[in-house]
Amino acid sequence: MLRRMPRSLLIRGATLPDGRTGVDLLAIAGRIAALREAGTPALAAPPDAERLDADGWLLSPPFIDAHFHLDAVLSHGLPRVNASGTLLEGIQLWGELKPLLSEEALVERALAYCDWAVARGIGAIRSHVDICDDRLLAVRALLHVRQQVAPYLDLQLVAFPQDGLLRSPGALANLERALDLGVDVVGGIPHFERSTAEGAESVRLLCEIAAARGLRVDMHCDESDDPLSRHIETLAFHTQRLGLQGRVTASHATSMHSMDNYYVSKLLPLLAEAGLHVVANPLINITLQGRHDSYPKRRGMTRVPELLAAGVNVGFGHDCVMDPWYALGSADMLEVAAMGLHVAQMTSVAAQRQCFDAVTVNNARILGLDGAGGYGLAPGCRADFVLLQARSPAEALRLRAQRLAVVRGGEVISRMAPATAQLSLPGRPAHVDFTRQTAG
Ligand SMILES: [Zn+2]
Repeated sequence: MLRRMPRSLLIRGATLPDGRTGVDLLAIAGRIAALREAGTPALAAPPDAERLDADGWLLSPPFIDAHFHLDAVLSHGLPRVNASGTLLEGIQLWGELKPLLSEEALVERALAYCDWAVARGIGAIRSHVDICDDRLLAVRALLHVRQQVAPYLDLQLVAFPQDGLLRSPGALANLERALDLGVDVVGGIPHFERSTAEGAESVRLLCEIAAARGLRVDMHCDESDDPLSRHIETLAFHTQRLGLQGRVTASHATSMHSMDNYYVSKLLPLLAEAGLHVVANPLINITLQGRHDSYPKRRGMTRVPELLAAGVNVGFGHDCVMDPWYALGSADMLEVAAMGLHVAQMTSVAAQRQCFDAVTVNNARILGLDGAGGYGLAPGCRADFVLLQARSPAEALRLRAQRLAVVRGGEVISRMAPATAQLSLPGRPAHVDFTRQTAG
């Protein structure tokens, strides 16, 4: 368990994501007190300070997951597996599982996943929680989990009407009850309502609820291959109308992949103007989209480089791990970012760095964790870090680098052994690691 007053921590010889090397960093009382660049006088650390030798490895603020489903996590195979692999069979399967859920089992699975997340260097997760259940079982379970993990992991919960806000009886009342119980963010699923008009009406209602309560919005929006699914336009409109700029996120937005290019050229500036955030979920989008296609088969992920170029903040989410929609996953945000890189063909040096940002700083903005005294590597920021066995963000992506140490509030809360191998080959070195320092 974490101590109430953490000791100070001195980290020596780190490489930072911006390329600075040989950086020392002192954390006192859970915050970054000072940073020392190579060649400047040593930091004066308290004598009892804990020490962490970074040995030139990459020190980053923690990974942030901007889109997840903790109520479904680790339920793969309950009560059966998704045979078609489609989004719609996943929703049907989740409907079969819901009556069988218990609060204890939900808590146990979510806590097990949070352990994985911490060990992989995730510092915060925004999780949707299905409110289309009059018992609000999952809501109660995840509120309990949020409190239990708070010392070492920030959980932000989204009230998510999985079966449709207007399509599912009681969903609107349940959503309000969930928010009354302390759920943080207003969710939605306009493309799953009965008609386009009802979808647009759900977006209006949900944005007004958020504005009245002073909450953020994060909707599953246009998770479809239908090029005419255009709820993101409505979401941007109400964001603008209600003054919610910077507080609203469109998750998935996969229909944008298939939209007419002329329409997208009008849409992107509207999204930027509304300060809308977009979350792509590369592992899930490449798995679920294009399932109705023969060949050529669409990738389906939203237009990440084009959104970024238009000035829209884009994050990547993990979305699912071992649940009705996705049988794989292990809380690895570097795997998420690497998949996003491949699917969007973001292979240039600058674009690879954008993919690393999409699971760190961009997601921190989506969750509202940035700002003075919050997320980052500047003095005054929270002393939360992950030390990666890589020399740069691009190398971290290439290797899905080991999380050598995870720091929360200035305390090391997880360690992982370096990835190495012992070779037995004549004439070759015995010790192999997979990092590679390029010649200067
Ligand atoms: Zn989702």
